[in-house]
Order: sequence, then structure tokens, then C-alpha cells
Amino acid sequence: MLRRPGWLVLGSGWWEKVESMAPPSLRHLVTGGAGFVGSTLVDRLMEAGEEVICLDNYFTGCKANVARWIGHPHFELIRHDVTEPIRLEVDRIWHLACPASPRHYQSNPIKTAKTSFLGTYNMLGLASRVGARLLLASTSEVYGDPEVHPQPESYRGSVNPIGIRSCYDEGKRIAEALCFDYMRMHGTEIRVARIFNTYGPRMAPDDGRVVSNFIVQALRGQPLTLYGDGSQTRSFCYVDDLVEGLIRLMNGNHTGPINIGNPGEFTILQLAEQVLQRINPELPLTYLPLPQDDPLQRQPVIDLARAELGWEPQVTLEQGLGPTIAHFRSVLGLE
Ligand code: NAD
Ligand code: UDP
Repeated sequence: MLRRPGWLVLGSGWWEKVESMAPPSLRHLVTGGAGFVGSTLVDRLMEAGEEVICLDNYFTGCKANVARWIGHPHFELIRHDVTEPIRLEVDRIWHLACPASPRHYQSNPIKTAKTSFLGTYNMLGLASRVGARLLLASTSEVYGDPEVHPQPESYRGSVNPIGIRSCYDEGKRIAEALCFDYMRMHGTEIRVARIFNTYGPRMAPDDGRVVSNFIVQALRGQPLTLYGDGSQTRSFCYVDDLVEGLIRLMNGNHTGPINIGNPGEFTILQLAEQVLQRINPELPLTYLPLPQDDPLQRQPVIDLARAELGWEPQVTLEQGLGPTIAHFRSVLGLE
């Protein structure tokens, strides 16, 4: 692909420093780039001197997450919905656009299914037209409520195809299928990451996922809402670890699907206790019904990521909760 002839650098100050940097070698499209994970990835790419197009419809993301890059000559922000096609010249497509929290993806399940199917279809069409490599942000939800524990990539899953989570779970399953069919039919270069529960700074306070809910509730002095008896498990990966794994996957030769997650497994009650211990041990727990099809256990096998990407998480839950709590203190104006 032809690269840019030079840089238009307006004004003075820090932009001039940018002009003197070596030109970026690749142009990256990050769909869902204004979201929690997407904006953390955008930071990494921009800090590496790459050229980034951030595309988002702001359903769950916000401009504030990428505000620091607006006006930078290597950065473009596009309001666009991935259910509509778009024509762009890019080398790498990081396809993250999709609401990830059950609260959000269940609020309009038909739209979620469209985003997963049509969004991935459109991005694969773009990738195959311009010869870009596409990385799909898939999910551990493709394993459903797993009967095999922990979950290796070879496990084919146990998803309820007609339940309230199926718009997301089945949406990601068809998105994975599309990726592999584009590879087989058109030779499109794909990478598929199965991401396990990830948390960290940039999560929105109203996101509805468990880590953000517990921290925000504790900081507000409210009871923590425990769904079910709290014995269900999740494995929590810090966002910086996840982004490192995604970058290694994109840059490497392994197509995937590949689990990217932290094997440290905790019950939701243990998570609540850790959050309370750090913020306010006096707060009570409120027990609410377990939502339909809520997986009872989840833990990644990451042997493949270790072998193929030389990757494993560096940040324990105990270490990652600190910066995450600091983020929410700041967002809630409690500093
Ligand atoms: P998020 O909700 O913070 O980010 C999703 C982003 O996609 C938001 O900015 C949102 O506005 C945008 N978006 C949604 N629908 C869109 C559409 N139709 N067109 C354009 N933009 C759209 O979620 P996240 O946690 O950052 O997740 C990012 C990706 O990683 C998602 O694809 C999600 O399925 C996947 N994933 C995340 C986790 C996790 O724990 N964070 C786990 C598994 C998979
Ligand atoms: N959960 C909870 N209280 C909350 C939010 C979630 O007990 O306020 C539970 C939820 O039922 C699930 C786990 O925490 O068992 C993780 O939920 P989340 O929505 O974060 O992710 P997912 O279910 O998609 O893994």
C-alpha cells in the first residue's frame, strides 16, 4: 500500500516533536477504539508512533477516552457504525466494536447480533479489499456455561442459542466463523483472540460489569450487589496485559483462536471481599437473583498463548485493583 508523502504539522509546540519522529510504518484501524479496551490499545499504538484511525459509534465508548490524541497528525477519529460498510486504506484492522457488558449488549440484543455479524462481515470485506490483516476481539463467551474446566481453545462450548446472552455469545461465534471462512475463501489474514474478563482504568462507572459495579458501589458507600450466592467464578485479566497479548497476536504468525486471559480464578464473593477490604470492609452485600445462563465457572487455559506468543499476564488481581480503584475515584470526583 502506498504510504503518505509527508506530514501536515500545524502550529507549534508538541506537534513539532511529532514531525521529527520517523514516519509510522503501518496504518491501523481500531473499531470500538473509544471504548475501554480499544482506547487502551489506541494509546499503545499511538505511543509506538503508528498511524491510527479510531472508529466508534459511541454506544458504550466516549470521545474522552481518546481526547488526548485529537489533533495529533497520526490520529483520526471517525463516528461510524460498523453495521454499515466503510471504505478506508489501512494495513491492520483491530475489530473490537461491540458492547461487552451484559447490561449493554442485552439492552438491544438485535442490534448486538447485527453488530457482531454485519460489523465483522463489513470489516472482513474491507480487510480483504485492501489486503489488511484483521484481528477479531472474540470472547470466552463462545464457551458458554462451560462443561469443561478450565477452558482450552479446543473446547467447542456450551452456549444456549436462544437465551438472553445468545445475541453476544452466538454473535461472536458467527463472527469467528466468518473470519475463518474469509481466510479459506479469500485468503484474508485473520487473528482471533478469545478474551476473558478484563478490567482496569477506562471502564465506565455505569458499565454494569462486576469489577466496575463493585468498586463504584463501594466508593459510593452502597451495598455490593452479588448475583446468586457468589460462588460462580471468573478469571480477571488486567487491561494492559490483555493489550500486550493482542499486540503479540496481531504481530505474530498464529491465526488463533487463542485464549487471552489471566488464569487466576476467583469466586465473585472473593472479588467482593477484596474490593471491600480495600475500600470499606463495613459495607454489606445484597444478594440478587443469578441472571439466566450466567456461566458458573470460567478460567482460561493459556498454554497456547504462552507457546505461540510468549505471553502470560504480569498483573495479579491484587495489583490491578489499585489503579482501577484510583481511576474510579477520579471519575467519581472523590480525589
Ligand atoms: P466497551 O463497551 O467499552 O467497548 C466497545 C466499543 O465499541 C465502544 O466504544 C462502543 O461505543 C463501540 N461500539 C459498539 N457497537 C458499535 C457499532 N455498532 N459500531 C461502532 N462502534 C461500536 O467494551 P470493551 O470491554 O472495551 O470490549 C471491547 C471488545 O473486546 C468487544 O468486542 C468485546 O466483545 C471484547 N471483549 C471484551 C472483554 C472484556 O472483559 N472487556 C471480554 C471479552 C471480549
Ligand atoms: N455480577 C455480580 N454483581 C454485579 C455484576 C455482576 O455478582 O453487580 C456477577 C455476574 O452474575 C457474573 C459475574 O459477576 O456471574 C461476572 O459478570 P460480568 O457482567 O462482569 O461478566 P460476564 O458475566 O459477562 O462474565
